[in-house]
Amino acid sequence: MSIRENIEYIRRLKDEAAVRSGRKGDDVLLIAVTKLHSADEINEAIDAGITDIGENKVQEILDKYDSVKPVKWHLIGHLQTNKVKYIIDKVDLIHSLDSMKLAQEIEKRAAKIDRIMDVLVQVNSAEEESKFGVGVDETEDLIKSIRAECTHINIKGLMCIAPLEDDPEDARPFFRAVKEIFDRHEDFTVLSMGMSNDFQVAIEEGSTAIRVGTAIFGNRDYRSEEK
Ligand SMILES: *Cc1c(COP(=O)(O)O)cnc(C)c1O
Repeated sequence: MSIRENIEYIRRLKDEAAVRSGRKGDDVLLIAVTKLHSADEINEAIDAGITDIGENKVQEILDKYDSVKPVKWHLIGHLQTNKVKYIIDKVDLIHSLDSMKLAQEIEKRAAKIDRIMDVLVQVNSAEEESKFGVGVDETEDLIKSIRAECTHINIKGLMCIAPLEDDPEDARPFFRAVKEIFDRHEDFTVLSMGMSNDFQVAIEEGSTAIRVGTAIFGNRDYRSEEK
């Protein structure tokens, strides 16, 4: 199947899941995750209607930025404070804000270029040691502190990565826990949950933005990644 056919297929499943959750297909954004894929492949996806792409590494954004057609860039992976300066003028939404230290750096860099940076707070809903993100119980405190201190940061909502399970049903409680926090904030508009293996369950639980890589572009060749 071509990239275009995969996108059409995923979009159909996305739209059907949205309807199952009492919404419209357009209420859920499809972000194509393009890490380890070339600018040519990304442009093929853009030609097939993709408006938003997600990368998890700053270096990959910088490498591809000039070769990719106009599109919205999402930083979905862990962001080190010393790399904020490279992407502050390039990405449209940072999904992975999970500490006050990172918030302070984003605040400083955004103020410098007079921009308000849109972010999501990443919640480590399953409290997995191996994952980034703030614990469910600490999320409200982090949101409060960012709001109090950072005038150049606009928190648009939350992001979570569910544990990788054979059965996507097992991810449902983790999505539900994040949706509960999301619902306490009337001004939140983006709930970034769901990847290739679990996006339908995530949408049923209220996701407004899914991050799909493998199901669009095929398996990633990690051997070619030497960094
Ligand atoms: C790689 C990645 C995805 C996409 O994963 P697939 O299983 O390939 O769809 C989504 N979110 C984040 C944060 C990722 O790093």
